[in-house]
Amino acid sequence: MDNCIFCKIVKGEIPCYKVYEDKDVLAFLDISQTTVGHTLVIPKEHFDNLLFCPRDLLEKVMHVAQSIAQAQVSSLGAKGVNVLINTNEVAGQTVMHFHVHVIPRYSNEDALRLEFLSNKIDKLNLPAIAENISNKL
Ligand code: 5GP
Ligand code: ZN
Repeated sequence: MDNCIFCKIVKGEIPCYKVYEDKDVLAFLDISQTTVGHTLVIPKEHFDNLLFCPRDLLEKVMHVAQSIAQAQVSSLGAKGVNVLINTNEVAGQTVMHFHVHVIPRYSNEDALRLEFLSNKIDKLNLPAIAENISNKL
């Protein structure tokens, strides 16, 4: 895609600090470095987000993400890792080229704040919700 920042990185038109590259996948440091070593893993081909990435390519992207997470623990001294995929604007996606954040964690006081707030579960029809999702798979 012509106006996509990550496609420009793939083509070498915008510089990046490369962590890994093969014919299908590229990984590079996120410019924001939420924690030290924060890395993005992308398919070289443009897909807007997770929902559109073909499964075989997704598998390759996730393999690289796993290897990077392992290296962040073994080489950077991370004590844990968050692997995040933001999908669409409502979920915080700002760059519309599918990417996986691999964010090493050194302490729970790190710059990343993740909080899963509980819904009012007694007001939800959980069997119907599960069935709705299940029926679409
Ligand atoms: P999103 O919010 O879409 O999940 O994440 C997009 C990420 O891309 C952000 O964390 C942002 O810092 C990173 N980013 C945006 N522009 C660039 C860039 O030009 N180079 C690099 N390396 N990262 C970028
Ligand atoms: Zn792109």
